[in-house]
Amino acid sequence: MNVTVFGTGYVGLVQGAVLADVGHHVVCVDVDADKVAKLEQGIVPIFEPGLETLVKENAAAGRLRFTTDAAAGVAHGTVQFIAVGTPPDEDGSADLQYVLAVAETVARHMTEHRIVIDKSTVPVGTADKVRARMSDVLAERGRQALTFDVVSNPEFLKEGSAVADCQKPDRIIIGTESEATEELMRELYAPFNRNHEKILVMDVKSAELTKYAANCMLATKISFMNEIANLAERLGADIEMVRHGIGSDPRIGYHFIYPGVGYGGSCFPKDVQALIRTAEQIDFDARVLKAVEARNHEQKTTLFAKIHRHFGGELAGKTVALWGLAFKPNTDDMREAPSRVLMEALWEAGARVQAFDPEAMEEAQRIYGARDELTLCGTKEAALKGADALAIVTDWQSFKAPDFELIRQQLSAPVIFDGRNLYEPKRMARKGFTYYSVGR
Ligand code: NAD
Repeated sequence: MNVTVFGTGYVGLVQGAVLADVGHHVVCVDVDADKVAKLEQGIVPIFEPGLETLVKENAAAGRLRFTTDAAAGVAHGTVQFIAVGTPPDEDGSADLQYVLAVAETVARHMTEHRIVIDKSTVPVGTADKVRARMSDVLAERGRQALTFDVVSNPEFLKEGSAVADCQKPDRIIIGTESEATEELMRELYAPFNRNHEKILVMDVKSAELTKYAANCMLATKISFMNEIANLAERLGADIEMVRHGIGSDPRIGYHFIYPGVGYGGSCFPKDVQALIRTAEQIDFDARVLKAVEARNHEQKTTLFAKIHRHFGGELAGKTVALWGLAFKPNTDDMREAPSRVLMEALWEAGARVQAFDPEAMEEAQRIYGARDELTLCGTKEAALKGADALAIVTDWQSFKAPDFELIRQQLSAPVIFDGRNLYEPKRMARKGFTYYSVGR
């Protein structure tokens, strides 16, 4: 099938490459000429395991092309994916300007039937807005006779395993009320639906809400566990024991119940906020979601509070080694990352940071540039040198069994603030560390 994807970010690029890999002919359109030029040379601007190989192989095979030429993109694909960003607006609701700009582009250039697929995360009712915008443009062109359909097909990939998630999705949600469109979507996704039935067809609004419900449920699990961790800390219980104790109940399960320093990234924070705003617009008070957001906000400050307390509020002139900048492992994404809240609070208090992350160093450089209070170090060991304490913010695999003797030698005092509970408190005490973790 001929497929066009608008937006070559985490979602569009991965989806485009994965669809090309099964044999579809994919054209990816982006307004960012720099990004397109890089992609044309086989340079993938984001880090995702397996993505670069997939992009190079499929581009070489002629099934994956990149362009800034929107008209060519519209001419190419029977289906037109919208995979552009939906960042929070000033009030936290999803900003649909990029989504509607693509809708307009498709309507402006189409000369035959087109299926527009909403892959971006968009509030309930967006498909109607896309449809209305397209109809307006077609009317302007005097081409009302041209037909099109709008499908909701939210994406559930996880950054860090985006390629694998797209190749083996848990489910494929298709929101459409048209049988012909459903059949076309089934054909598009047939290669991913062979092992067992993963396609769930539903009405458009339910599909749109499913995406928000999924992310908000996951965010709720995290905030809930962080709340219990706060209680455990104050009550003298061990959250890790509690976690095992509740996870063993199959109704609860072990997934996504790790306490930590709060969720970040480009999705959970904005999607929780956007659903709260959607609720407000229909005069519904989304109390659970508001609490989830408030707990998360506060949780991101807890590691700083512990550091501040440990040093008796005297942080001026101190240096903190920081392991982990990305909002989670296996990505270079620092959007809404807890590391940023911690670093900025440390700077505010007059401390310096020596940071290391296996993938997000360039991103940190891009965000913060050159500044005295931040040194980006080439290795996790280099970050320790002469620091007054170590803070761990991201649970990268390579942080899980470090050389503790070396840590002790490099730090001016053996103090670790662990925001991810990577180590065993008793073992750390035996090794002579003052060790702070979450909920124990
Ligand atoms: P992103 O910011 O990484 O990429 C968006 C891309 O769209 C950019 O390259 C931008 O230049 C391009 N763009 C903007 N306007 C355009 C236009 N008019 N025509 C062509 N390209 C245009 O965003 P992302 O992380 O890929 O997210 C895209 C959507 O998918 C969002 O709604 C997001 O909520 C959702 N989503 C993201 C993830 C994730 O893990 N990142 C997972 C599931 C769903």
